[in-house]
Amino acid sequence: MRYAVISDIHSNLEAFRAVVADIRTRAVSAVFFAGDAVGYGPDPDACTLLLKETCSEAVAGNHDWAAIGSASDQRFNEMARRALAWTRTRLSERSIEHLRGLPLTSSLEDHDAFLVHASPKDPASWRYLLSMGEIRENYEFFSQRICYLGHSHTPFIAEQLPSGGIQIHRGSVTLEQTGKYIVNCGSVGQPRDGDPRACYVIFDDGAVQFPRVEYAVEETQRKMALEGLPDMLIERLARGR
Ligand code: ZN
Repeated sequence: MRYAVISDIHSNLEAFRAVVADIRTRAVSAVFFAGDAVGYGPDPDACTLLLKETCSEAVAGNHDWAAIGSASDQRFNEMARRALAWTRTRLSERSIEHLRGLPLTSSLEDHDAFLVHASPKDPASWRYLLSMGEIRENYEFFSQRICYLGHSHTPFIAEQLPSGGIQIHRGSVTLEQTGKYIVNCGSVGQPRDGDPRACYVIFDDGAVQFPRVEYAVEETQRKMALEGLPDMLIERLARGR
């Protein structure tokens, strides 16, 4: 069984297209999405429509909800709020309808996996899993073998060992039969782990990998500048921070 999981596209069409092209070379049976199609980047509508066409299961992220008015943008920083206000003016009815239809969580029955954007414990609070304690308590809130999420834009695999301990992996891992896993998919459209290349997940016969895909960063930056999106959001794409 081979499938892909993508997250945090953030209206970056160049990155998203590059990832879709990379996925096409890998003969996957399905592509799943862990939230945040929009926000920050210059192509919210095209990204939402490509998402609709690419992913068979998808959940909503905090930026998706804020863009369609399902959540307040009070907790976003000033730059994210500016980008969201602009995003709202660029979404077509079809895109709004698609984002509105995304659930907060999804159970991938055939894959023994669970999808959520931020945390299984309380999906609508959009909490980050930052400490080992927070990671540990979240294992109680999904029954499947693997939980895929996004939100922090930093890829990792947290493995719950039979002893109850947690081991963090930063790269590819072959999953153990006895383990239970939380996999952060990283970000397609705004990586923050110091590597500017687009990031996503391939699950291949019990192994989880994070392919990195080069894309035309300058083209995304050019479009953002043209739309007057915040400088810091433009610059960070080249740094992957
Ligand atoms: Zn995000």
